[in-house]
Amino acid sequence: MDLFEYQGKQFFASFDIPVSAGEAVTTVEDAVAAAERLDQWPVVVKAQVHTGGRGKAGGVKLANSVEEVREHATNILGLDIKGHIVKIVWIEVGSDIAEEYYASFTLDRSAKKHLGMLSAQGGVEIEAVAESDPDAIAKIWIDPVDGLDEATAREWVAAAKLNPQATEGAVDILLKLYRAYTEGDADLVEINPLILKPTGEVHALDAKVTLDANAAFRHEWAEYEATQSRDEREQAAHEKGLQYVGLDGSVGIIANGAGLAMSTLDVVNQVGGSPANFLDIGGGANADVMAGALEVINNDPSVKSIFINIFGGITRGEEVANGIVEALNRVTIDAPIVIRLDGTNADEGRAILEPHLSGQLQMQPTMLDAARTAVALAADR
Ligand code: GDP
Ligand code: MN
Repeated sequence: MDLFEYQGKQFFASFDIPVSAGEAVTTVEDAVAAAERLDQWPVVVKAQVHTGGRGKAGGVKLANSVEEVREHATNILGLDIKGHIVKIVWIEVGSDIAEEYYASFTLDRSAKKHLGMLSAQGGVEIEAVAESDPDAIAKIWIDPVDGLDEATAREWVAAAKLNPQATEGAVDILLKLYRAYTEGDADLVEINPLILKPTGEVHALDAKVTLDANAAFRHEWAEYEATQSRDEREQAAHEKGLQYVGLDGSVGIIANGAGLAMSTLDVVNQVGGSPANFLDIGGGANADVMAGALEVINNDPSVKSIFINIFGGITRGEEVANGIVEALNRVTIDAPIVIRLDGTNADEGRAILEPHLSGQLQMQPTMLDAARTAVALAADR
Protein backbone atom coordinates (compact mmCIF):
# COMPACT_ATOMS: atom_id res chain seq x y z
CA MET A 1 0.00 0.00 0.00
CA ASP A 2 1.65 3.22 -1.21
CA LEU A 3 1.31 6.42 0.79
CA PHE A 4 1.23 9.95 -0.54
CA GLU A 5 4.19 12.07 0.53
CA TYR A 6 2.13 13.94 3.13
CA GLN A 7 0.92 10.66 4.64
CA GLY A 8 4.48 9.35 4.62
CA LYS A 9 5.52 12.46 6.52
CA GLN A 10 2.73 11.94 9.07
CA PHE A 11 3.94 8.35 9.38
CA PHE A 12 7.55 9.55 9.86
CA ALA A 13 6.47 12.20 12.36
CA SER A 14 4.77 9.51 14.46
CA PHE A 15 8.27 8.00 14.84
CA ASP A 16 9.73 11.39 15.74
CA ILE A 17 11.52 11.97 12.42
CA PRO A 18 11.75 15.72 11.71
CA VAL A 19 9.60 16.85 8.76
CA SER A 20 8.27 20.25 7.66
CA ALA A 21 4.93 21.55 8.88
CA GLY A 22 2.24 21.64 6.22
CA GLU A 23 -1.33 21.01 5.11
CA ALA A 24 -2.87 18.79 2.42
CA VAL A 25 -5.57 20.54 0.33
CA THR A 26 -7.59 19.87 -2.80
CA THR A 27 -8.45 23.37 -4.09
CA VAL A 28 -6.55 26.53 -5.00
CA GLU A 29 -8.45 28.56 -2.40
CA ASP A 30 -7.57 26.07 0.34
CA ALA A 31 -3.95 26.11 -0.81
CA VAL A 32 -3.85 29.88 -0.37
CA ALA A 33 -5.56 29.65 3.02
CA ALA A 34 -3.13 26.94 4.15
CA ALA A 35 -0.12 29.05 3.14
CA GLU A 36 -1.55 32.04 5.04
CA ARG A 37 -2.05 29.88 8.11
CA LEU A 38 1.52 28.53 7.91
CA ASP A 39 2.67 32.15 7.56
CA GLN A 40 6.36 31.37 6.96
CA TRP A 41 7.78 32.12 3.54
CA PRO A 42 8.62 30.64 1.16
CA VAL A 43 6.22 27.72 1.17
CA VAL A 44 6.49 24.73 -1.16
CA VAL A 45 3.52 23.62 -3.26
CA LYS A 46 3.86 19.87 -3.84
CA ALA A 47 1.80 17.52 -6.03
CA GLN A 48 0.62 14.43 -4.16
CA VAL A 49 0.68 11.42 -6.49
CA HIS A 50 1.72 7.80 -6.09
CA THR A 51 4.78 8.25 -8.28
CA GLY A 52 8.21 9.87 -8.06
CA GLY A 53 9.95 12.51 -10.17
CA ARG A 54 7.40 15.17 -9.33
CA GLY A 55 10.02 17.92 -9.21
CA LYS A 56 11.11 17.27 -12.82
CA ALA A 57 7.48 17.17 -13.97
CA GLY A 58 6.73 20.61 -12.51
CA GLY A 59 4.93 19.23 -9.47
CA VAL A 60 7.13 20.89 -6.80
CA LYS A 61 7.29 24.71 -6.68
CA LEU A 62 8.51 27.27 -4.18
CA ALA A 63 6.15 30.21 -3.60
CA ASN A 64 7.16 33.50 -2.00
CA SER A 65 3.72 35.09 -1.85
CA VAL A 66 0.01 34.35 -1.83
CA GLU A 67 -0.07 35.17 -5.56
CA GLU A 68 2.62 32.59 -6.28
CA VAL A 69 0.82 29.97 -4.21
CA ARG A 70 -2.30 30.64 -6.26
CA GLU A 71 -0.37 30.39 -9.52
CA HIS A 72 1.46 27.16 -8.63
CA ALA A 73 -1.57 25.46 -7.07
CA THR A 74 -3.59 26.30 -10.20
CA ASN A 75 -0.91 24.77 -12.42
CA ILE A 76 -0.28 21.70 -10.27
CA LEU A 77 -3.87 20.68 -9.45
CA GLY A 78 -5.01 18.64 -12.45
CA LEU A 79 -1.46 18.15 -13.73
CA ASP A 80 -0.75 14.73 -15.27
CA ILE A 81 2.42 13.23 -13.79
CA LYS A 82 3.26 9.93 -15.50
CA GLY A 83 -0.44 9.16 -15.91
CA HIS A 84 -1.38 10.23 -12.37
CA ILE A 85 -3.69 13.26 -12.21
CA VAL A 86 -2.93 15.52 -9.24
CA LYS A 87 -5.98 15.93 -6.97
CA ILE A 88 -4.19 16.84 -3.73
CA VAL A 89 -1.42 19.35 -3.08
CA TRP A 90 0.66 19.56 0.05
CA ILE A 91 1.64 23.06 1.17
CA GLU A 92 4.66 23.01 3.47
CA VAL A 93 7.02 25.50 5.02
CA GLY A 94 10.06 25.84 2.72
CA SER A 95 13.48 24.70 3.93
CA ASP A 96 16.94 26.09 3.33
CA ILE A 97 19.10 23.34 1.90
CA ALA A 98 22.87 23.02 2.35
CA GLU A 99 23.13 19.44 1.09
CA GLU A 100 20.80 16.71 -0.19
CA TYR A 101 21.25 13.05 0.80
CA TYR A 102 19.41 9.78 0.19
CA ALA A 103 18.33 7.20 2.80
CA SER A 104 16.14 4.11 2.58
CA PHE A 105 15.30 0.72 4.05
CA THR A 106 13.76 -2.14 2.17
CA LEU A 107 13.78 -5.93 2.27
CA ASP A 108 16.46 -7.82 0.39
CA ARG A 109 14.62 -11.11 -0.08
CA SER A 110 17.57 -13.04 -1.47
CA ALA A 111 19.79 -12.00 1.45
CA LYS A 112 16.89 -12.55 3.89
CA LYS A 113 17.88 -9.28 5.52
CA HIS A 114 16.84 -5.67 5.59
CA LEU A 115 18.82 -3.50 3.20
CA GLY A 116 19.69 0.06 4.18
CA MET A 117 21.00 2.46 1.54
CA LEU A 118 22.57 5.82 2.27
CA SER A 119 24.18 8.26 -0.11
CA ALA A 120 25.66 11.73 -0.02
CA GLN A 121 24.25 12.14 -3.54
CA GLY A 122 20.58 12.72 -2.86
CA GLY A 123 17.84 14.70 -4.54
CA VAL A 124 18.34 12.82 -7.80
CA GLU A 125 16.95 9.40 -8.68
CA ILE A 126 18.90 6.74 -6.81
CA GLU A 127 18.81 4.50 -9.90
CA ALA A 128 20.85 7.16 -11.71
CA VAL A 129 23.41 7.24 -8.87
CA ALA A 130 23.56 3.43 -8.86
CA GLU A 131 24.32 3.59 -12.57
CA SER A 132 26.85 6.42 -12.69
CA ASP A 133 28.59 6.05 -9.33
CA PRO A 134 27.59 2.85 -7.49
CA ASP A 135 30.27 3.39 -4.83
CA ALA A 136 28.43 6.56 -3.77
CA ILE A 137 25.73 4.37 -2.19
CA ALA A 138 26.69 2.91 1.21
CA LYS A 139 24.71 -0.28 1.77
CA ILE A 140 24.20 -2.26 4.93
CA TRP A 141 22.39 -5.52 5.42
CA ILE A 142 20.65 -5.80 8.76
CA ASP A 143 19.65 -9.07 10.37
CA PRO A 144 16.08 -8.47 11.60
CA VAL A 145 16.89 -10.37 14.80
CA ASP A 146 19.82 -8.07 15.64
CA GLY A 147 18.28 -4.82 14.43
CA LEU A 148 20.26 -1.62 13.88
CA ASP A 149 22.30 -0.21 16.77
CA GLU A 150 23.79 3.23 17.10
CA ALA A 151 27.41 2.18 16.58
CA THR A 152 26.52 0.46 13.29
CA ALA A 153 24.48 3.45 12.15
CA ARG A 154 27.47 5.70 12.91
CA GLU A 155 29.84 3.53 10.85
CA TRP A 156 27.29 3.50 8.06
CA VAL A 157 27.05 7.29 8.01
CA ALA A 158 30.85 7.50 7.94
CA ALA A 159 30.99 5.05 5.03
CA ALA A 160 28.53 7.22 3.09
CA LYS A 161 30.84 10.23 3.60
CA LEU A 162 28.12 12.65 4.61
CA ASN A 163 29.25 16.06 5.77
CA PRO A 164 30.56 15.54 9.36
CA GLN A 165 28.15 18.30 10.42
CA ALA A 166 25.29 15.96 9.49
CA THR A 167 26.54 12.93 11.43
CA GLU A 168 24.54 13.30 14.65
CA GLY A 169 21.31 14.23 12.90
CA ALA A 170 21.69 11.48 10.31
CA VAL A 171 22.41 8.77 12.90
CA ASP A 172 19.38 9.85 14.89
CA ILE A 173 17.08 9.85 11.84
CA LEU A 174 18.38 6.51 10.51
CA LEU A 175 17.68 4.80 13.85
CA LYS A 176 14.18 6.27 13.88
CA LEU A 177 13.66 5.41 10.23
CA TYR A 178 14.62 1.80 10.93
CA ARG A 179 12.07 1.72 13.75
CA ALA A 180 9.43 3.22 11.46
CA TYR A 181 10.26 0.58 8.84
CA THR A 182 10.10 -2.40 11.20
CA GLU A 183 7.56 -1.42 13.88
CA GLY A 184 5.49 0.44 11.31
CA ASP A 185 5.32 -2.67 9.08
CA ALA A 186 6.63 -0.95 5.95
CA ASP A 187 8.05 -2.70 2.90
CA LEU A 188 9.90 0.45 1.90
CA VAL A 189 10.79 3.74 3.55
CA GLU A 190 12.76 6.25 1.50
CA ILE A 191 13.84 9.82 2.19
CA ASN A 192 15.09 11.60 -0.92
CA PRO A 193 16.28 14.18 -0.22
CA LEU A 194 17.29 13.89 3.37
CA ILE A 195 18.65 17.40 3.86
CA LEU A 196 21.31 19.09 5.89
CA LYS A 197 20.21 22.64 6.62
CA PRO A 198 22.68 25.53 6.85
CA THR A 199 21.88 25.51 10.59
CA GLY A 200 23.23 21.93 10.89
CA GLU A 201 19.87 20.22 11.39
CA VAL A 202 19.01 17.10 9.39
CA HIS A 203 15.48 16.79 8.10
CA ALA A 204 13.27 14.63 5.82
CA LEU A 205 12.23 16.76 2.84
CA ASP A 206 10.43 13.98 0.97
CA ALA A 207 8.81 10.70 2.03
CA LYS A 208 8.16 7.55 0.07
CA VAL A 209 6.51 4.82 2.12
CA THR A 210 5.03 1.49 1.09
CA LEU A 211 3.20 -0.30 3.89
CA ASP A 212 2.73 -4.06 4.09
CA ALA A 213 -1.04 -4.42 3.59
CA ASN A 214 -0.93 -7.83 5.29
CA ALA A 215 -0.11 -6.04 8.56
CA ALA A 216 -3.10 -3.67 8.30
CA PHE A 217 -4.96 -5.52 11.05
CA ARG A 218 -2.55 -4.29 13.68
CA HIS A 219 -2.57 -0.63 12.64
CA GLU A 220 -4.98 2.25 12.13
CA TRP A 221 -4.55 2.56 8.38
CA ALA A 222 -8.11 3.35 7.30
CA GLU A 223 -7.10 6.84 6.16
CA TYR A 224 -4.27 5.50 4.00
CA GLU A 225 -6.52 2.76 2.66
CA ALA A 226 -9.16 5.32 1.64
CA THR A 227 -6.78 7.19 -0.67
CA GLN A 228 -5.35 4.23 -2.57
CA SER A 229 -5.43 4.80 -6.31
CA ARG A 230 -6.69 1.73 -8.13
CA ASP A 231 -7.95 1.42 -11.65
CA GLU A 232 -11.67 0.59 -11.98
CA ARG A 233 -11.01 -3.11 -12.41
CA GLU A 234 -8.77 -3.21 -9.35
CA GLN A 235 -11.33 -1.30 -7.30
CA ALA A 236 -14.13 -3.73 -8.25
CA ALA A 237 -11.92 -6.73 -7.43
CA HIS A 238 -10.83 -5.16 -4.16
CA GLU A 239 -14.48 -4.67 -3.12
CA LYS A 240 -15.08 -8.36 -3.76
CA GLY A 241 -12.03 -9.29 -1.67
CA LEU A 242 -10.17 -10.76 -4.66
CA GLN A 243 -6.41 -10.70 -5.11
CA TYR A 244 -6.30 -8.90 -8.45
CA VAL A 245 -3.71 -6.94 -10.40
CA GLY A 246 -4.71 -5.32 -13.69
CA LEU A 247 -2.37 -5.87 -16.66
CA ASP A 248 -2.65 -4.71 -20.27
CA GLY A 249 -3.09 -7.93 -22.26
CA SER A 250 -6.16 -9.71 -23.65
CA VAL A 251 -6.37 -13.08 -21.86
CA GLY A 252 -8.32 -12.86 -18.59
CA ILE A 253 -6.83 -15.17 -15.95
CA ILE A 254 -8.51 -16.87 -13.00
CA ALA A 255 -6.47 -19.31 -10.94
CA ASN A 256 -6.62 -20.73 -7.45
CA GLY A 257 -3.49 -19.90 -5.49
CA ALA A 258 -1.03 -17.09 -6.08
CA GLY A 259 1.72 -19.44 -7.29
CA LEU A 260 -0.54 -21.06 -9.86
CA ALA A 261 -1.84 -17.66 -10.97
CA MET A 262 1.72 -16.46 -11.57
CA SER A 263 2.63 -19.63 -13.46
CA THR A 264 -0.49 -19.14 -15.56
CA LEU A 265 0.67 -15.66 -16.55
CA ASP A 266 4.06 -17.13 -17.48
CA VAL A 267 2.56 -19.92 -19.58
CA VAL A 268 0.24 -17.52 -21.41
CA ASN A 269 3.25 -15.33 -22.19
CA GLN A 270 5.29 -18.36 -23.20
CA VAL A 271 2.78 -19.37 -25.88
CA GLY A 272 2.71 -15.86 -27.31
CA GLY A 273 -0.28 -14.39 -25.49
CA SER A 274 -0.58 -11.53 -23.05
CA PRO A 275 -2.48 -11.71 -19.75
CA ALA A 276 -5.11 -9.07 -18.97
CA ASN A 277 -4.72 -9.57 -15.24
CA PHE A 278 -3.49 -11.58 -12.31
CA LEU A 279 -6.36 -13.01 -10.29
CA ASP A 280 -6.00 -15.45 -7.44
CA ILE A 281 -9.32 -16.71 -6.08
CA GLY A 282 -7.63 -18.56 -3.23
CA GLY A 283 -8.07 -22.16 -2.20
CA GLY A 284 -11.85 -22.30 -1.93
CA ALA A 285 -13.14 -21.56 -5.44
CA ASN A 286 -16.84 -21.72 -4.50
CA ALA A 287 -19.60 -20.35 -6.75
CA ASP A 288 -19.68 -16.91 -5.07
CA VAL A 289 -15.97 -16.31 -5.46
CA MET A 290 -15.91 -17.70 -8.99
CA ALA A 291 -18.91 -15.56 -10.02
CA GLY A 292 -17.26 -12.46 -8.56
CA ALA A 293 -14.02 -13.23 -10.40
CA LEU A 294 -15.88 -13.74 -13.69
CA GLU A 295 -17.76 -10.46 -13.24
CA VAL A 296 -14.56 -8.50 -12.70
CA ILE A 297 -12.92 -10.05 -15.76
CA ASN A 298 -16.05 -9.72 -17.89
CA ASN A 299 -16.15 -5.97 -17.18
CA ASP A 300 -12.67 -5.51 -18.60
CA PRO A 301 -13.14 -4.45 -22.27
CA SER A 302 -9.68 -5.64 -23.29
CA VAL A 303 -10.40 -9.26 -22.30
CA LYS A 304 -10.87 -11.39 -25.45
CA SER A 305 -10.75 -14.84 -23.84
CA ILE A 306 -10.73 -16.22 -20.30
CA PHE A 307 -8.48 -18.92 -18.93
CA ILE A 308 -9.68 -20.58 -15.71
CA ASN A 309 -6.82 -22.62 -14.29
CA ILE A 310 -7.74 -24.69 -11.25
CA PHE A 311 -5.71 -27.24 -9.39
CA GLY A 312 -7.79 -29.09 -6.82
CA GLY A 313 -5.96 -29.54 -3.54
CA ILE A 314 -7.88 -29.53 -0.31
CA THR A 315 -10.79 -28.27 -2.39
CA ARG A 316 -11.91 -31.24 -4.46
CA GLY A 317 -12.45 -31.13 -8.23
CA GLU A 318 -16.21 -31.68 -8.05
CA GLU A 319 -16.69 -28.78 -5.63
CA VAL A 320 -14.76 -26.50 -7.95
CA ALA A 321 -16.64 -27.74 -11.00
CA ASN A 322 -20.00 -27.18 -9.29
CA GLY A 323 -18.85 -23.69 -8.35
CA ILE A 324 -17.91 -22.92 -11.96
CA VAL A 325 -21.21 -24.23 -13.33
CA GLU A 326 -23.23 -22.25 -10.82
CA ALA A 327 -21.18 -19.09 -11.44
CA LEU A 328 -21.69 -19.42 -15.20
CA ASN A 329 -25.44 -19.63 -14.61
CA ARG A 330 -25.33 -16.37 -12.68
CA VAL A 331 -23.04 -14.27 -14.86
CA THR A 332 -23.40 -13.78 -18.60
CA ILE A 333 -19.93 -13.90 -20.08
CA ASP A 334 -19.05 -12.37 -23.44
CA ALA A 335 -15.61 -13.87 -24.00
CA PRO A 336 -14.98 -17.58 -24.65
CA ILE A 337 -13.73 -19.52 -21.64
CA VAL A 338 -11.10 -22.25 -21.47
CA ILE A 339 -10.91 -24.38 -18.34
CA ARG A 340 -8.11 -26.55 -17.12
CA LEU A 341 -9.09 -28.59 -14.10
CA ASP A 342 -6.61 -30.91 -12.45
CA GLY A 343 -5.62 -32.25 -9.04
CA THR A 344 -7.77 -33.96 -6.43
CA ASN A 345 -10.84 -35.62 -7.99
CA ALA A 346 -10.13 -34.00 -11.36
CA ASP A 347 -12.08 -36.74 -13.21
CA GLU A 348 -15.20 -36.17 -11.12
CA GLY A 349 -14.89 -32.43 -11.71
CA ARG A 350 -14.42 -32.80 -15.47
CA ALA A 351 -17.46 -35.08 -15.64
CA ILE A 352 -19.55 -32.32 -14.06
CA LEU A 353 -18.29 -29.75 -16.58
CA GLU A 354 -18.61 -32.04 -19.62
CA PRO A 355 -22.35 -31.46 -20.38
CA HIS A 356 -21.84 -27.68 -20.30
CA LEU A 357 -19.05 -27.54 -22.86
CA SER A 358 -19.47 -25.66 -26.14
CA GLY A 359 -17.49 -23.33 -28.39
CA GLN A 360 -18.02 -20.74 -25.70
CA LEU A 361 -16.85 -23.01 -22.87
CA GLN A 362 -13.98 -25.34 -23.61
CA MET A 363 -11.92 -27.67 -21.49
CA GLN A 364 -8.32 -28.73 -22.04
CA PRO A 365 -6.40 -31.50 -20.28
CA THR A 366 -3.21 -29.55 -19.50
CA MET A 367 -2.22 -26.05 -18.54
CA LEU A 368 -0.18 -25.66 -21.73
CA ASP A 369 -3.04 -26.83 -24.00
CA ALA A 370 -5.46 -24.54 -22.23
CA ALA A 371 -3.07 -21.58 -22.54
CA ARG A 372 -2.63 -22.22 -26.27
CA THR A 373 -6.39 -22.45 -26.79
CA ALA A 374 -7.10 -19.30 -24.78
CA VAL A 375 -4.41 -17.35 -26.63
CA ALA A 376 -5.69 -18.56 -30.03
CA LEU A 377 -9.26 -17.60 -29.09
CA ALA A 378 -8.11 -14.14 -27.99
CA ALA A 379 -6.25 -13.64 -31.27
CA ASP A 380 -9.36 -14.56 -33.29
CA ARG A 381 -11.60 -11.90 -31.75
P1 GDP B 1 10.29 14.43 -6.11
O1 GDP B 1 10.83 15.15 -7.31
O2 GDP B 1 8.98 13.77 -6.41
O3 GDP B 1 11.25 13.45 -5.53
O4 GDP B 1 9.98 15.56 -5.00
P2 GDP B 1 10.87 16.12 -3.78
O5 GDP B 1 10.00 16.33 -2.63
O6 GDP B 1 12.05 15.24 -3.54
O7 GDP B 1 11.37 17.54 -4.30
C1 GDP B 1 12.20 17.66 -5.43
C2 GDP B 1 13.27 18.69 -5.20
O8 GDP B 1 12.67 19.95 -4.94
C3 GDP B 1 14.16 18.43 -3.99
O9 GDP B 1 15.21 17.55 -4.28
C4 GDP B 1 14.63 19.83 -3.65
O10 GDP B 1 15.78 20.13 -4.43
C5 GDP B 1 13.48 20.71 -4.08
N1 GDP B 1 12.73 21.13 -2.88
C6 GDP B 1 11.71 20.47 -2.30
N2 GDP B 1 11.32 21.10 -1.15
C7 GDP B 1 12.12 22.17 -1.02
C8 GDP B 1 12.25 23.20 -0.02
O11 GDP B 1 11.56 23.25 1.01
N3 GDP B 1 13.22 24.15 -0.23
C9 GDP B 1 14.03 24.11 -1.33
N4 GDP B 1 14.95 25.05 -1.46
N5 GDP B 1 13.95 23.16 -2.27
C10 GDP B 1 13.02 22.19 -2.12
MN1 MN C 1 12.14 13.12 -3.77
